[in-house]
Order: sequence, then C-alpha cells, then structure tokens
Amino acid sequence: MESVRFACQSGCTKCCDVQGYVYLSEDDLRRAARHLRLTAAEFERRFVYRTRHLLRLRKPKAKQCHFLLENGCSIHPAKPTQCRLFPFWPELLESAVAWVSTAQRCPGIGVGPLIQIGTAHETASEMKRAYPSMYED
Ligand code: SF4
Ligand code: SF4
Repeated sequence: MESVRFACQSGCTKCCDVQGYVYLSEDDLRRAARHLRLTAAEFERRFVYRTRHLLRLRKPKAKQCHFLLENGCSIHPAKPTQCRLFPFWPELLESAVAWVSTAQRCPGIGVGPLIQIGTAHETASEMKRAYPSMYED
C-alpha cells in the first residue's frame, strides 16, 4: 500500500464493539483516571486487569467495553492509545489483507483524505511505544 484513505465517521462506535481487549499504557491509565477524577490506583482497581507485561480494561458482561455508552466513548478525550490510533495499528498497515478485512467493520476506511503510507506508519509507531511488549520481535 502506498497510501490509504481514512476519516472516522461521526456517531460510529463499531470498533468499540469488536471482540477483543483494550490495552492501556501506564500513561493511558493515569490519563483516564484523571479524566474520571479518580486516583490511578482507584481506576486500576475498578477497571483494569494487570498482567506481568500488559494492562487491559476489564470487560463487563454484556458489552465489550465498560466506557462504551449509547452516545459513544464516555472517556473520549482520555481514551487509550489503541482506541485513539485505530485503524493506524502497525499490524493493519503492514498487511493489505488485514487492512481490507478491517475495512469491512470500519466505515471510515476507504473514505476521507488520502494519507501517505509513511505518515500512517509514523502515527502507528506510537502503538509500539505505548505497548512495547506487544511488538517485541
Ligand atoms: S469503526 Fe472506524 S469509523 Fe467507526 S468509530 Fe471506529 S475508527 Fe471511526
Ligand atoms: S475506551 Fe472508549 S474508545 Fe476505547 S473501546 Fe472503550 S468505549 Fe471504545
């Protein structure tokens, strides 16, 4: 791919409803806690599952993400890095097949401004900084 088109669609929350986990960096955790006026420790106790190398949001029973409300993400200004960068994830940009398959559930892919692939990869590199253990060789 030499370039991609993308524009997030107003009112869409499809990517918040995909089966999977939402990972957080330590900075994401602190930001989201501040947004909710909680201490980082309290936010972690209520919403986060910590493993040896990763932090992820706990999943409620009936939906994919606790913060997904009818009108969208309730922590939008402080949402985790993977949510903020989607679909500019290295694993999606590095595979045309993955990009096309993701387009089937993201109506923002394929529309909007043309983005040079180098710019898209630069955006995606933030994923590697935020979640280094996920991108180790
Ligand atoms: S699925 Fe795509 S268009 Fe919809 S909210 Fe997510 S990024 Fe935006
Ligand atoms: S944190 Fe917000 S943007 Fe991320 S999955 Fe949950 S509702 Fe969606």
